[in-house]
Amino acid sequence: MNSNFRTAMLPGSFDPPTLGHVDIIERSARLYDRLYVVIADNVHKSYLFTPEERLSMLKEILREHENIEVVTHSGLVVDFAKTHKVGVMVRGVRALADFGYEFELAMTNKQLYPGLEVLFLPTSPKYFLLRSSAIKEMAAFGADISSMVPPLVAEIMKQRLKRGAK
Ligand code: ADP
Repeated sequence: MNSNFRTAMLPGSFDPPTLGHVDIIERSARLYDRLYVVIADNVHKSYLFTPEERLSMLKEILREHENIEVVTHSGLVVDFAKTHKVGVMVRGVRALADFGYEFELAMTNKQLYPGLEVLFLPTSPKYFLLRSSAIKEMAAFGADISSMVPPLVAEIMKQRLKRGAK
C-alpha cells in the first residue's frame, strides 16, 4: 500500500478552535499514524486570531498527542499534501448544509491532486451545532461559551473581548 495513506491532514481555519474541532482531530488521529492539523492563513479572509495565535492554542490543546503536528499554511491545501506526502484529507461534516460545500471542495481538490483521498467524518452528535463563526458572535454578545470551546480558548476569548471593548 502507498505509505502516504498512513498520513492524513485536517485543514481548517480554527478561528478559534472548538470542542467540535478537538473531537474530529482526536478521532482522525486514531485512524492514522500521523496527522497534520493545518491552520489556514488566507490573506483574503479576516480572522479574529492571527495564524500564530491559532497555532499556539492548538499546539497547547493537543500537546499530549504524539502523532499530531499543528502547522500553519498559506497556500493551497493540495500543495501541502504533495510536499508532506499526505495521502488523505479529513473533513468533518455537521449538517447536510456542510455536505454540499464539502463535496464541491473535494471535487476541486481531487481535480488539482488526484492522488489525494478525501474522507468525510461525521460530527459527534453533541458537537453538531458547534461552529466557530457562531461562537464568536455569541461571545461578542456576552454569552457563556465555556461548554463549546476548550478552557484555554474560553479564557483567551474573554481577554480578547475585554480588550476589544475598551
Ligand atoms: P468552522 O469555521 O466551520 O468551525 P473550520 O474551517 O475551522 O470550520 O473547520 C476545520 C474542520 O473541522 C472542517 O473539516 C470542519 O468541517 C470541521 N469541523 C468544524 N466544526 C466541527 C464540528 N462541530 N464537528 C465536526 N467537524 C467540525
